[in-house]
Amino acid sequence: MGRYDGRVAVITGSAQGIGFGIATRLAEEGASIAVVDLDETAAAAAAARLPLVDGAKAIGVGADVSDGAAVEAAIGRVVSELGGIHVLVNNAGITRDNLLFKMSESDWDLVMNVHLKGAFLMTKAAQKHFVEQKYGKILNLSSVSSLGNRGQANYSAAKMGVQGFTRTLGIELGPFGINANAIAPGFIATEMTDATAARLKMDVEEFRKLNAEANPVRRVGFPEDIAAAAAFLCSDEASYITGQTLYVDGGAKLG
Ligand code: NAP
Repeated sequence: MGRYDGRVAVITGSAQGIGFGIATRLAEEGASIAVVDLDETAAAAAAARLPLVDGAKAIGVGADVSDGAAVEAAIGRVVSELGGIHVLVNNAGITRDNLLFKMSESDWDLVMNVHLKGAFLMTKAAQKHFVEQKYGKILNLSSVSSLGNRGQANYSAAKMGVQGFTRTLGIELGPFGINANAIAPGFIATEMTDATAARLKMDVEEFRKLNAEANPVRRVGFPEDIAAAAAFLCSDEASYITGQTLYVDGGAKLG
């Protein structure tokens, strides 16, 4: 008997990286999964790789989370093909790093649109179902960069915005049996941080090693670290926790 038996989880940006890690963990614990990502072929391929338990299903849905019509259609497909929705993880993300004086208006808008407008649109579409059934779990991906990070004025603002959004969801949706929390990861080894290494013209392994050495627990994080926290926060064991942001970063910002 898994903690997610009979539950349907929608995870955005889960064709790879942290999202795929969360999808894998919830699938292992019994959930049916909708992998929502920009590219439907990649989303379907990821869905096909999930370790489903008996009776659970997985589908891949192509959608841009910053497009209202695409989001409505995606949630509609999930409900009709998987029979409902119980968990929403707003994980889709991008970076467009640059120092402020070089950051373009479109770098700003793109990052805001995916992280903040995307989380808003997905949550608005899902909450109708959550309120109706008086049950729902929302998890938003923030970041340690929300506390400030050189070259990430857009991303940092969006990720701190996610925390305010999460607190407000906690207040508004709590009376309807809905919990909303956020995870703020530190350095997690994914395509996103590999791309940062490339941008800094550094070898990926060297970049990870430097980050590991600077971290109190002397290692980088992996999608499984975020997935373990996500599986707890979206479970019924965490039903008295809402509006919170949990830093899963090896203590990176403590010192
Ligand atoms: P990732 O490997 O780059 O994966 C992000 C996924 O989101 C990709 O599959 C991407 O698709 C998809 N995506 C991008 N824009 C989208 C959109 N508009 N609609 C739907 N899907 C979209 O990133 P990650 O490292 O797993 O990060 C996942 C989340 O954790 C992000 O919110 C990120 O900001 C946050 N985070 C990551 C770290 C870290 O160290 N990795 C740290 C803190 C927070 P494409 O590949 O097709 O673009």
